[in-house]
Amino acid sequence: MLKPKAEVVNPPHASVATPAATPRIIPRSEHSISRSHISPNALRVLYRLREGGFQAFLVGGCVRDLLLGMEPKDFDVATDALPEEVKRLFRNCRLVGRRFRLAHVFFGRDIIEVATFRATSAPSQGDEPLPEADPEDGEAAELDDPDLEAEPVPAQARAPLERPSRGRGDAEPGAATEVTFDASGRILRDNVYGTIDEDVWRRDFTVNALYYNIADFSLWDYVGGAEDIKTRTLRLIGDPETRFREDPVRMLRAARFEAKLGFQIEPATAKPIGALRQLLAGVPPARLFDETLKLFLTGQGARSFEVLRSRGLLAAMLPTVDAYFGSHPGSLVEKLLLQGLRNTDARVLADKPVTPTFLFALLLYGPIAGIIESAPPEHWHELATILEACDRATREAQARLAIPRRFALGVREMFALQPRLEHPRGRRSLRLLEQARFRAGYDLLLLRAEHGLAPPDVAQWWTRLQQVPPEERGRMADALAGEGSPPQAPHRRGRRRRRRSRASSPA
Ligand code: ATP
Ligand code: MG
Repeated sequence: MLKPKAEVVNPPHASVATPAATPRIIPRSEHSISRSHISPNALRVLYRLREGGFQAFLVGGCVRDLLLGMEPKDFDVATDALPEEVKRLFRNCRLVGRRFRLAHVFFGRDIIEVATFRATSAPSQGDEPLPEADPEDGEAAELDDPDLEAEPVPAQARAPLERPSRGRGDAEPGAATEVTFDASGRILRDNVYGTIDEDVWRRDFTVNALYYNIADFSLWDYVGGAEDIKTRTLRLIGDPETRFREDPVRMLRAARFEAKLGFQIEPATAKPIGALRQLLAGVPPARLFDETLKLFLTGQGARSFEVLRSRGLLAAMLPTVDAYFGSHPGSLVEKLLLQGLRNTDARVLADKPVTPTFLFALLLYGPIAGIIESAPPEHWHELATILEACDRATREAQARLAIPRRFALGVREMFALQPRLEHPRGRRSLRLLEQARFRAGYDLLLLRAEHGLAPPDVAQWWTRLQQVPPEERGRMADALAGEGSPPQAPHRRGRRRRRRSRASSPA
């Protein structure tokens, strides 16, 4: 951790963090970041840039996480070298990005992202879905065209931030040097290169704006980020309302860091969220999808869900999900969702794979159940009713958030499997084991059974079926066909049937 120091750029009581003209430089002897904790590939990039005569810093989440003693997800490098200059230094380098060029330096499967300092506070590299950014799904990137989203208005039409203007936009042939905003203040386009003291303005929170200088291993702090790390405070740089309007996704990032780091959002930063959260409706749906994965599939999904709800952000992101929980307080479905998110978090911690399909099945469970419940009860278990409910729930969610088709189809298959898993029919049911979606469907059945939404003895039967050798499976299926219920509980048939009719109602 950082050692205490008397001089502080922004004292903890300052509600607006305004970058200082010069940084507070924290020497190596006064902070805890050691090169042994930095990825060797990131170090290679930093040293090569420096040898090439450029400035080279680690910046963003990696510096924050290193100071907190956490393992960074990735290492981002910031430099005064232009993208073309970076490319000349590294043979294993590709320039990417449509609105703003970034260099990706490849070391096998490891990629170090190198960004040239920027002079305006546009959404950064992290939030512009690049084709490479989401290897899981290219559709997300294709859907995002922020420049088509809204009528641009001139920069002068909005409250300006006071900041220096020494952009290097002219250094990039053909680069537009002006910034465009939409009517709500959202930045649509900017690509002006700058210096490090300008780059700091485009960072979101003070704790994400610390620069680690490879030249002497010092930390550069323009905004009091080191102090905010010590007091575990999330504070936007600049005027919070302006910064949220520029990029409403920063509200989701605030919630994500609150959940992930356990930091407190400082009151002036938290205050405008209530009034501005509806601006998330104007964010490209593909970007909201990317952000949803970061919120729920990186190890703190259950906490993210609680924070999003308490800050009213779930309503802006997934209105139908929020509405279901609003009208069914304390429901079994809510417990199922939270348990499912906790299970997912445990898988992430254990380095096991997690999938957006299962996540969306959990998130959409409420709306799907709500739609099924609105049909007459005799239709609840019909495949057509279930599929229609999945399709409608997905369509409604997609008004805000792009759920790529293959994940939406996966959710449909998982729900379609439920009645077949609940009512196994002899040897035919063994074929379900071969289905691509069996594992996800079975996991959902287990969760439902755990919460009284499916019969537990059937769930146990499926568990046992997978544990026994294949030749035994046929016997289990035959026994089931003969007895009409899982063999483990023949004597409980009556009870099971009663429970099933209650338990397999949608919610
Ligand atoms: P993590 O990687 O742990 O999720 P991070 O802070 O590194 O957190 P990234 O999305 O990787 O987040 O972004 C890297 C850095 O880029 C951030 O620390 C921040 O300085 C800047 N940044 C990213 N997104 C935004 C944004 N929407 N607005 C302003 N700055 C941003
Ligand atoms: Mg990061």
